[in-house]
Amino acid sequence: MENALRLQIEALREQLLIERAERAAERERAALLEDFIENASISLHWVGPDGSILWANQDELDFLGYAREEYVGRNITEFHTDQRVISDILCRLGRNETLRNYEARLRCKNGDEKTVLINSNVLWRDGTFVHTRCFTRDISDIKRQVLATRESEERYRALIEQANDAIFVADAESGIILDANRRAEHLLGRPIAEIKGMHQTHLHPPEMLDAYGRIFREHAAAGGGMLVKDIFVQDASGRHVPVEISANVIPLNGKPALQGIFRDVTERKRAEAELAEKTAELTRSNAELELFAATASHDLQEPLRMISSYLNLLERRCGAAFDERGHGYMKQVCDAALRMQNLVRALLSYAKVGQGELAFEPVTMLTALSEAVEHLEDKVAATRAHIAFDDLPIVRGDRTLLVQLFQNLIGNALKFCDGRDPKIRIDARDSGKEWTFTVADNGIGIDQADQQRIFKAFERLHGPSRYAGTGLGLATCRKIVDVHRGRIWVESTPGVGSTFCFTIGKE
Ligand code: ADP
Repeated sequence: MENALRLQIEALREQLLIERAERAAERERAALLEDFIENASISLHWVGPDGSILWANQDELDFLGYAREEYVGRNITEFHTDQRVISDILCRLGRNETLRNYEARLRCKNGDEKTVLINSNVLWRDGTFVHTRCFTRDISDIKRQVLATRESEERYRALIEQANDAIFVADAESGIILDANRRAEHLLGRPIAEIKGMHQTHLHPPEMLDAYGRIFREHAAAGGGMLVKDIFVQDASGRHVPVEISANVIPLNGKPALQGIFRDVTERKRAEAELAEKTAELTRSNAELELFAATASHDLQEPLRMISSYLNLLERRCGAAFDERGHGYMKQVCDAALRMQNLVRALLSYAKVGQGELAFEPVTMLTALSEAVEHLEDKVAATRAHIAFDDLPIVRGDRTLLVQLFQNLIGNALKFCDGRDPKIRIDARDSGKEWTFTVADNGIGIDQADQQRIFKAFERLHGPSRYAGTGLGLATCRKIVDVHRGRIWVESTPGVGSTFCFTIGKE
């Protein structure tokens, strides 16, 4: 009896120990679970049927920055920035819906707003709303990144769409076109959807591909961005459109891509061709005019010579019969005939520059200068001019024309001196690819405003009564310098003197 009782007590004690161990294990499991939930790296909370926050884990408190007592017990609506959103959330949960990745915005303690994704459902017990189970994931950074990427994509899109040129972006490795703008559509006459996926070589006329391939390879080998001119693309109708391409490598989604900017140069090419045609036409008609002027002035010389000699004859044979007025008339006619002769001669020499073959040869400019001065001997003596010069180089040119050039310039320096003894200096300086010659005088000088027009035919700054002349001397100089592919200009100070400068290339 006693034994049976002891056994019973033993069994009860054992039972008690087992139960105690089980409770301890359960407490242990509950503590572990609580620890797991409290320290989960996802925000969790429970909300009661009236919207009050019943519980939140540490992650949620840390993420929003509230102390437990500032959060738990308050109404969840206070922490949502958009009241319509939280009303909708509560309404859906009340209808026993499960929310999956529902986007909302929460207000942190420091005033920041966080974008979150909410996954939530309700724990019901015996048909009664106990509390929500809410899992909240912060996606603010991802959202910011997405927005930034979208913004930068939109900016890039706007930029390439605003461009006046067609833009193509191709994968650098495969050459497949990944993107293009509206201008590209116009250029090719194809929709973007069709352009995307095309191989970049298919933009060009097939028969040109070998040649273009070589050009592109050469440019690519040179490195950096490339600019390719005189190249064609082929549009949908088969028309060849002239373009200029500037291309460079850009990063696209972490891979190198080739961005090509294609400028349609059809209009420019047309304008260039038109200009070339007009220039050729102008050159032709100029040549015709010059030939006409040369022939006319040549033919005029003969009757003029005749007039002059008969005037001389008239003077000699019948001069005695003229009274004073008759002699006066006679002088006027002779002067006019002389002026006309000078004019015709000047016109002829102006028209002849560039007519026929030019005899280009090495010309010792010192010799050309001496020859020119020799031709002006009388005037030099009459004006008591002093002519100085330095060593002058040998240039390639037409000797006769270069003599005439010096002669015209020195002739003017002797003429436009206003009674002073002319002091003329001729120099040359090495200007790299060309020689620059200068003919400087101490004459009357030329106003800044007139310094360009005097090189045009018949432009004179004084009447014939003050200084005789034809107005063709400097125009002839300009033509001579032109045929030597040089430039001519004047630097001058009125009352002090002028320096005429001209260049002759060394080639
Ligand atoms: P022309 O000497 O026959 O008048 P040019 O064509 O040689 O014609 O010169 C045009 C004009 O430029 C001259 O009429 C003169 O007014 C001005 N000119 C030319 N050379 C000089 C110079 N060395 N000094 C001042 N004026 C000059």
